[in-house]
Amino acid sequence: METYAQALLYAIPFFIALLLVEIFYGYVRNRQKHRVLDSVSSISSGLTNIVKDSLGIGLVIVSYPLLLESFSLVSIQATWLVWLIAFVVIDFAGYWNHRLSHRINVFWNQHVIHHSSEEFNLACALRQPISNLIGYFTLFLLPAALLGVPTEVIAILAPIHLFAQFWYHTQHIGKLGWLEYVIVTPSQHRVHHAINPEYIDKNLGQVLCIWDRWFGTFQKELEHLPPQYGVLKPAATWNPVVINFQHLWQLTLDAWRTRSLKDKLRIWFMPTGWRPDDVKMRYPLRRIEDVYNFEKYETQASTALKYYAVLQMSCTLALMLFMFYNYGEIGFKGLLLFVAFVFTAIFGYTSLMDLRRYAIWIELFRALAGLLLIAYTGDWFGLNAFYPIGSTLMVIYFIGTLCGGIYFAYLEKRLFNSNNMVLK
Ligand SMILES: [Zn+2]
Ligand SMILES: [Zn+2]
Repeated sequence: METYAQALLYAIPFFIALLLVEIFYGYVRNRQKHRVLDSVSSISSGLTNIVKDSLGIGLVIVSYPLLLESFSLVSIQATWLVWLIAFVVIDFAGYWNHRLSHRINVFWNQHVIHHSSEEFNLACALRQPISNLIGYFTLFLLPAALLGVPTEVIAILAPIHLFAQFWYHTQHIGKLGWLEYVIVTPSQHRVHHAINPEYIDKNLGQVLCIWDRWFGTFQKELEHLPPQYGVLKPAATWNPVVINFQHLWQLTLDAWRTRSLKDKLRIWFMPTGWRPDDVKMRYPLRRIEDVYNFEKYETQASTALKYYAVLQMSCTLALMLFMFYNYGEIGFKGLLLFVAFVFTAIFGYTSLMDLRRYAIWIELFRALAGLLLIAYTGDWFGLNAFYPIGSTLMVIYFIGTLCGGIYFAYLEKRLFNSNNMVLK
């Protein structure tokens, strides 16, 4: 996992640079595709994902080396041809995994976060799951194992394949000529993120678009049908941790509430969005009917709160980069504690963005825990070795977040009292 942390250390500044270019470009062209709170929520979701993934938490059903050992028909060397074959096989596996995530209720839970933004921009690419706790993706790599593709090739290609899906989340690039027939382009992926009936569940490819053309899920972007982004059952929160488990919670509630035993069992594996008839009647859910005229989620945050959210996110990002930089030194137990701080930070400031009163309690708890840890260890996970005043800065940071929480929850309380949540 340490190599993954290293790869991220290089990838993250690159992603941030591209994001800033997109925001700047949107600004000068007067076609801004970012909303502050939405982008903060997206980036924060990316932070939760990489932090969780770097720990390697989750149950892996079968590891690739084991699959290779059990099923390889031939043994091959890592020549350029093997790299090429492996890339195509990973992409093919990615297509089917993505299709499964879209089509089956229980699998949708770990993918809905990616579609939960009602905007479409580079930040939205960073909305990646933390609810993928059971690692079954390796099963889709059986063709690679049969062909004897070495483990190292898969280990190197998998993150490259994932990072290659970042660039096409933008509205600033039009159609790309002949490339539209080979790779997934921004135009095709706009269709994928759209909820227009003509577009939904289309273009499931990840790098190559040939699978969609082959298996009948391809749809090109049409001039007269501008894509409308989001999900049919809106998340209605900026909190990425909540979005990650919202659908699973709904399924659990429905399974509990339905009187039919058959429905209790089958709800998990029915098509995405399916609900038992009796709970549908008794507990209706808000669902977007008119995709061209729905109200996007927005909270009545003041400009100060928006800036504060950006500041909190930047501090959390800096903390996380330090965690990756000092990964080996911190040790596994220390990492678990560090990750808990990162998650609580994100939970706290996104709850504040949602204008939730309980945000103040989260901020209070985190600040006190942080201050106690610094008092007890005299350091912040080895930060003092890099900056002698590191732990002093952390003390200022924690006191600052506490004051920020109190300021917004009490001094700007008119925001919290005004309907709490407002849909624009
Ligand atoms: Zn998708
Ligand atoms: Zn996407």
